Formats: sequence, C-alpha cells, structure tokens
Amino acid sequence: MSASPVRKIVIVGGVAGGATAAARIRRLDEHAEIVLIERGPDIAFANCGLPYHIGGEIEDRDALRVQTVAGMKARYNLDIRTRSEVVAIDRQRRVVRVTDHAGGRTYEESYDTLLLSPGAAPIRPPLPGVEHPAVFTLRNLQDMDRIRDATNSARTAVVVGGGFIGLEMVENLHRRGVSVTLVELLPQVLPPMDAEFAERLRRELVAHGVTLHLGDAVAGFEDRAGRLGVQLRSNAVLEADLVILAVGVRPDTQLARDAGLELNQRGGIIVDEHMRTSDPHIYAVGDAVEISDAVLGGPTMLPLAGPANRQARIAADNICGRPSTFRGVQGTAIVRVFGLTAACTGASEKTLRQRGVAYESITVFPKSHAGYFPGAAQMMLKLLFAPPEGRILGAQIVGGEGVDKRIDVLALAIQAGLTTFDLEQAELAYAPQYGSAKDPINIAGFVAGNKLRGDVHCLGPAEVEPQLAQQYTLLDVRNPDEVAAGTIPGSINIPLPLLRRRLDEIPRDKPVLVFCAVGQRGYYACRCLSQHGYSCSSICGGYAAYDLARTAGGAGA
Ligand SMILES: Cc1cc2nc3c(=O)[nH]c(=O)nc-3n(C[C@H](O)[C@H](O)[C@H](O)COP(=O)(O)OP(=O)(O)OC[C@H]3O[C@@H](n4cnc5c(N)ncnc54)[C@H](O)[C@@H]3O)c2cc1C
Repeated sequence: MSASPVRKIVIVGGVAGGATAAARIRRLDEHAEIVLIERGPDIAFANCGLPYHIGGEIEDRDALRVQTVAGMKARYNLDIRTRSEVVAIDRQRRVVRVTDHAGGRTYEESYDTLLLSPGAAPIRPPLPGVEHPAVFTLRNLQDMDRIRDATNSARTAVVVGGGFIGLEMVENLHRRGVSVTLVELLPQVLPPMDAEFAERLRRELVAHGVTLHLGDAVAGFEDRAGRLGVQLRSNAVLEADLVILAVGVRPDTQLARDAGLELNQRGGIIVDEHMRTSDPHIYAVGDAVEISDAVLGGPTMLPLAGPANRQARIAADNICGRPSTFRGVQGTAIVRVFGLTAACTGASEKTLRQRGVAYESITVFPKSHAGYFPGAAQMMLKLLFAPPEGRILGAQIVGGEGVDKRIDVLALAIQAGLTTFDLEQAELAYAPQYGSAKDPINIAGFVAGNKLRGDVHCLGPAEVEPQLAQQYTLLDVRNPDEVAAGTIPGSINIPLPLLRRRLDEIPRDKPVLVFCAVGQRGYYACRCLSQHGYSCSSICGGYAAYDLARTAGGAGA
C-alpha cells in the first residue's frame, strides 16, 4: 500500500490566526509540510496586551511573546520564516513569491493549500502632517516600543478615536502620568455601544482628568518646535508631545486583491462558512475576512482575536478533511475604562433602529453580588429582545466587578437562541461573594418578562421627552433626600411607602408615569396604581437611566 502524498500548506501571517491554524493543522496531520511566513520579526505575540506594556501594567515585554519561533518549531515541527513577506500568489501554478527581507532575496514557494491570515492595518488618514514622527499607530511590538519610548518624556498626548484601542491607550498613557485629550468624531465614545452607556464612560474619563472633544475630528498636524500642534475641524488647536491614531483598521488584503480573490467593498476577503475563499485551494481567516452577522444576518467584519482564533481552527479542520463550519459573529467585546468595565454582545439599540428591527428593551441596575456582602458594585445592564417570544438580540453592561461573567452568559444565551423567559429560569452559581440568589441575569429576565407579559408598561429612558410632563402625571416615588439631588421637572413626589395612603393626591384625568432611582420601586408603584384603576407606566431604569440618556442626548442618538 502506498503512503498518501505529503500535503504542503503555506500560511501567510504568523500571529493570531496564522499561528493558531499552524498548530491545529499539525495536531491533525503529523506528516503535512507546514510553512509559516511572517513579514515581521515576531510570531504569535499578544496584540491585545500591547497597550498594557506601554502603561506598565504588563512589565515584562517578553510576556507578550506568547510563542517564540524556536518554541513553535520545536513543539509543532513547523518551517517558520520571519522577516519574510509573501508578495504575490500565482494561483494557476499554486506558488507564492516570497521576499526574504533579512536575506535580501526573493524566491518562490509552492503550496497545495494556502491559508491567508494577514490581519488588518491601522488606518492613517491622509491628513497634513500625519507623517510626523510623533504621530503613532499601534499594531505590533515595534509600534509598542516606539510609543513606550516616546511616552518616557511626554507630558501631554492626544488620542484620536474613542473605540476600544483608543480608550485602552487613554487609560495607559494616563497611567504613565501623561495628560491625555481624546478626540472622537462621533458625539460619544465607544461607538458600538448605545449613547447612555457611552455617557457613563464619558463621566468616568472626565473624572480621571481626561479632556474630551466629542463630535470633532483632527484636520491636520504641524510641528511646533518639537511638539505637535493638532488642528481640529472645530478650529481648536491642541498641543501634544505625541499623538496616537486609533481610528480603525482596514483589512491588509492587497496580496489577495492582486491575486484576483473575491473581496467586498471594504477590501475584506469573501469566504464561505468553511473559511474557503473564491479559490478552493486558498483559505482566509481573521481581521482580513468578511463573515456573517449571526444575530441580524448579512455580511459583516469584526477585527477581534476570538473570531480570528476560532476561524483559524475551522479552516485548519477543513484543510485536514474535517468538515467544520463557522457560525458567524455577534460582536461580543469588553474593555476596561479606569474603574469601569464596559461590555456588549449582539445588536445595539441604535443598530436595531437603523435596520428597522422590531425590538423591546429593558434597563436594570443590579448589584454584582449580594448587597449585604462587602464590595458589591452596581452595574447598568440593558437587554434587547424581540417581541413577543423574547428572543435575545443584544445586551450591554457597564459597571465594575461581575460585568465580564454576565456578558458572557448573555453572549452564550444569544448563540443558543434563548429567550428572556429562559433568563428568568437560568440556574447560576451563587454564594454572597459572587452573585445573588436572584442573579443580574435572572433580574434582567424578570423585568423583560414583566414587560412582555404586560405586567407593567415601561418607557425607555430615551423616550422620556420634555412634553411628557403635559401628557402624564409624573410621579417620583423616591425618598425626599434622593429627590433633592435631582428629579424630572414637573414631577410630584410621593415616596413609595406612603403611596397607598396618599392615592388621592394623584389626579385620575391623566395617565401616570412613575419613576424611582433605578426602576424597581417604580415597578412596585406601577403595579399598585394599576390595580387601583390608574393608567400607569414606569420609566425603565428610573432616574439613573433617564439622567444618562438625557445628558447623552437620547439613547438612539
Ligand atoms: C492594540 C491592540 C489591542 C487589541 N485588543 C484586543 C482585545 O482586547 N480583544 C480582541 O478580541 N482583539 C483585540 N485586538 C485585535 C486582535 O489583535 C486581532 O483581531 C487579531 O490579532 C487578528 O488576527 P489576524 O491573524 O487576523 O491578524 P494579526 O494577528 O494582525 O496577524 C497578521 C500578521 O500577518 C502578517 N502579514 C500580513 N501580510 C503579510 C504578507 N504578505 N506576508 C507575510 N506576513 C504578512 C502581519 O505582519 C501580521 O503580523 C487588538 C489589536 C490591537 C492592535
């Protein structure tokens, strides 16, 4: 019996997707010839940790090199070529052209299967002065070293872009004692999240001395005797010792384009659910590919490490003859902003509105663990779901401890197609240090269930317009000391414990809109009033959610 021919797999890109695929292929096929080609000097490093070495939280630079070339070679028997760039693909001959930057030569390498994981490059808008040496982007260890060096002598920095990487850089520059200004084109930070959640983050940034220019953009840079003048579209001029551009990434796919592979309008490589490109001998994964949106359907792109790693595993399975499919992404993401953690999964409220999807939402403010156990932190959690069956469409959470585990439960609930009624029934681990007998997940399910069953009519905080004071009797059921710190203009105050005794103070000619601090007492009041014959609604998330939405200019803004 003749042995089957040895397969030769060439992988372009040796970091998240490429290194993962190489390791998986080896585990499935001991005999394959695997060539891993990486343009830079390092493989398998932790992009996600780069900001934290700049800030000093990760002290040891080598900790970011998750695998070394020698370690990967020894463990997986790979042919690894760093400082080597694939500059062309000849699909007919199944050959790639490689430039060896260290050796100064170019050669050809044949393949049976090619896997592309070239990642994405930070966008550098063509602004005047953008090539100034103090204007940085962050993608790899070398970028990180340059920024860290510049930070040693910097007193002020401007971060352009308030997305995940921008916010991480703000926090880490601040940690190094640099005074930071953040410029963001949109009127909010962290664009994937809804405005009232971004408002919580804005307040946290301001509380830490960060200056914000929201709804503004950089128009250009100029050298001012070694420092940078950062000209904004609003005509404001900021002075900085260094600038971080974090305005997004574009797929690094010129190679695929030149090879004639099918791309989308943004340059993303189009792949099927097996991660195969328009050429059956070429697979692609990671930041460079277009994938499907698992919640709303249709194509999308999501430059995150989790999807890149999972796609790499699936591509490797298919390359090795194990049918395996990628089921799409839902945009689960998390970031720390000083003392807060912000996380989201699935669709946001603004996306659902833009797409015209029918949805309901609730906002709750549960504690991270039992209130009687020291250190419980309040989180703000919004759940978005489809009426009438309650299928979960998305969730957002901002808070301290415990945000991460709740967003992961909700992410999995979305993947499993669960409904809000399933959340009511969810059995989750509880001891007072970790959770509550009614976990935040259960509470979100109860409140959503109350809404879907019609037990209470709720208005979202952004729906509370000034004219509502004419349409409704606004009833604040908090205690007077809470009211003194701020309330909705035109409201009357009857604390919840006194409500039944003072019903005659509430006019019956108009519907009543009740609110409390975070929604719970408002719900109790609403149940009481509606059973006394009042037409009654409550503000979901109470005054806290109303105040955030009002300051942010409305949740859908
Ligand atoms: C600062 C920062 C923080 C991040 N934080 C997070 C986070 O907290 N959570 C998260 O989920 N994601 C995070 N990400 C995103 C995550 O790192 C990426 O989604 C992930 O690395 C994508 O994997 P990839 O294999 O597609 O690309 P990469 O990991 O970027 O690897 C692509 C590699 O291909 C090489 N290459 C490109 N073209 C060629 C060629 N022609 N020849 C040879 N080599 C080539 C490049 O040099 C590059 O090293 C962060 C990214 C950055 C930059």
